[in-house]
Amino acid sequence: MIRISDKSLCSGCTACVSACPAQCIVMRRDREGFDYPVANSDLCVKCGLCERICPVLNPCDRMEPLDAYAARCASQVEGASSGGIFPLLAQEFVSDGGIVCGAALDTDCTVVHCAVEDEAGLSALKGSKYAQSELYSMFEDIRAELKDGRRVLFSGTPCQVAGLNAYLGKAQDGLITVDIACHGVPSPGLWEKYKAAIEKSHHSPLKSVDFRDRSEGWRHYNIRYDFRDKSVTVPRAKDPYLALFLQDMTLRPSCYDCRLRGGCSGSDITLSDLWSVAGTAPEMNDDRGVSGVLINTEKGRELYEKVTGRLVGQQIQVDQVRKENGGFAGAVVVPERRDEFFKGVHSAADLPKYMSSFIIRKPLHVRMYQSIRRKLSALKRRMKK
Ligand SMILES: Cc1cc2nc3c(=O)[nH]c(=O)nc-3n(C[C@H](O)[C@H](O)[C@H](O)COP(=O)(O)OP(=O)(O)OC[C@H]3O[C@@H](n4cnc5c(N)ncnc54)[C@H](O)[C@@H]3O)c2cc1C
Ligand code: SF4
Ligand code: SF4
Ligand code: SF4
Repeated sequence: MIRISDKSLCSGCTACVSACPAQCIVMRRDREGFDYPVANSDLCVKCGLCERICPVLNPCDRMEPLDAYAARCASQVEGASSGGIFPLLAQEFVSDGGIVCGAALDTDCTVVHCAVEDEAGLSALKGSKYAQSELYSMFEDIRAELKDGRRVLFSGTPCQVAGLNAYLGKAQDGLITVDIACHGVPSPGLWEKYKAAIEKSHHSPLKSVDFRDRSEGWRHYNIRYDFRDKSVTVPRAKDPYLALFLQDMTLRPSCYDCRLRGGCSGSDITLSDLWSVAGTAPEMNDDRGVSGVLINTEKGRELYEKVTGRLVGQQIQVDQVRKENGGFAGAVVVPERRDEFFKGVHSAADLPKYMSSFIIRKPLHVRMYQSIRRKLSALKRRMKK
């Protein structure tokens, strides 16, 4: 029976919950705001399935990608996080009668996985959402759709893809999986609290949020909050929620020494930001966003080849995708003050202010240099238009 004594050994993928034949495991939120499986020992039939399928306890071998590309889809890049390759693949998939599952914002801005069957619904799946997504019964729903003969594209973090593959057991003809490079996910419970705090201070409900507002460019993205009656854009170094995510303060414990990113999820395609673009594909280095695309399987290659006519891209080396990218890195250092931070969250009278006090500010000369680079880059973009 699954029992989480070391939180770094559970990514929260929900595979054990979906697989338990006695249906005796539920996900429960801890004090840091992350969800963990809890099994009811009175109902458990001691079959051991939960431990046998857990992808963290039984990680797959690392796969070497077959090919790598730098790519951008001009018609999809707006609103996407990197080069707009995920929305392009999703569009191709639904137009061919398939179902696409990915992370979206719910009406109250909670991050949830949902299934989309038509092009109109795909915009909800576009873009990165910086909180761990709720999967609910997504794995069971996917199994039912596959059984009915439907084709499904599932997109998520490497641990979610590994969890789905583990739950389904053997390779499924109708399933294709796309994972994202992932340096970690922030606490959904913290996002909920932070959201409530800013709604209170702005006297307005939050309608939407763009975690990667690119009005200053792809590299210098900020965060934009759309309240009912106004929009507020906050520079990423000043926004406590985004800054602490980027400083690794608010990540799930399993993310610091992740066993599933970097080729261990069993995904067909991996998408990332191509941060090394200046040296790798200089002609695409215009700050409009470029994806690194890793083709991991023949199934992935088949889908990617269907969309190559609708994107600008070039083949590059696999290592160039992984370069300068924390989403493929090994262990991430746990910030010294992480425990102290989460301990104080519940009692903080002014949560945004409390969170701001944990942001590590860069020295003045670095901030000035970055500000000048940002302005130059915006000027270059304007001159190119
Ligand atoms: C929490 C998080 C951390 C990331 N870390 C890195 C990194 O370190 N390095 C890097 O290169 N790229 C990272 N990315 C991925 C990257 O920013 C892009 O999402 C990816 O390159 C796809 O971009 P796109 O333009 O092709 O499509 P997009 O339209 O941007 O892709 C959107 C799809 O990404 C998936 N997604 C978005 N948010 C979540 C979420 N909370 N949980 C699960 N899946 C989600 C969904 O299925 C969603 O529909 C991260 C993304 C997230 C959400
Ligand atoms: S051992 Fe079997 S019955 Fe018990 S919690 Fe795990 S999967 Fe469920
Ligand atoms: S990693 Fe997934 S399968 Fe393993 S214990 Fe956590 S939720 Fe269950
Ligand atoms: S870093 Fe690893 S454990 Fe954390 S969300 Fe990403 S894939 Fe999952």
